[in-house]
Amino acid sequence: MVPVACKMAAGSTLLGAVKLRMFGTNIWLLVGALILLVVGLAVLIAIWTGVNILWWRASRRRVEQNMHRRHHLPDGTPLPPASRGICDRCQQVVNPVYHTEDGRRLCLHHYQEQKNQQQAAKTTRTDNHRHDAATN
Ligand SMILES: [Zn+2]
Repeated sequence: MVPVACKMAAGSTLLGAVKLRMFGTNIWLLVGALILLVVGLAVLIAIWTGVNILWWRASRRRVEQNMHRRHHLPDGTPLPPASRGICDRCQQVVNPVYHTEDGRRLCLHHYQEQKNQQQAAKTTRTDNHRHDAATN
């Protein structure tokens, strides 16, 4: 016959083992949750960084296009230095006003007009030159 005290001791050690096993399981659950949390946080940070990089590149491209548009005509020819001022032809305050090589200040409209006239004069001059060369 087993004494009552001995029975109780065996029961408490069994209970202790069960408690210890549950504690071990809980610890592993906690560690797994912590690892998941850290990995999730790392993934979130990576996604956020990627989005930021894409947004930064798009904004830089937009700024570069704006700068190119401010300093070039639609056909790609570079514009002369510009500032805020009064156009010599239409006498209006415009921003920007372009400083031409001959010292005049023109708004975009009149600058393009002058550029087209110079272009036309150049082509007729070369045409005349060609014509002279053909006749001589
Ligand atoms: Zn003008």
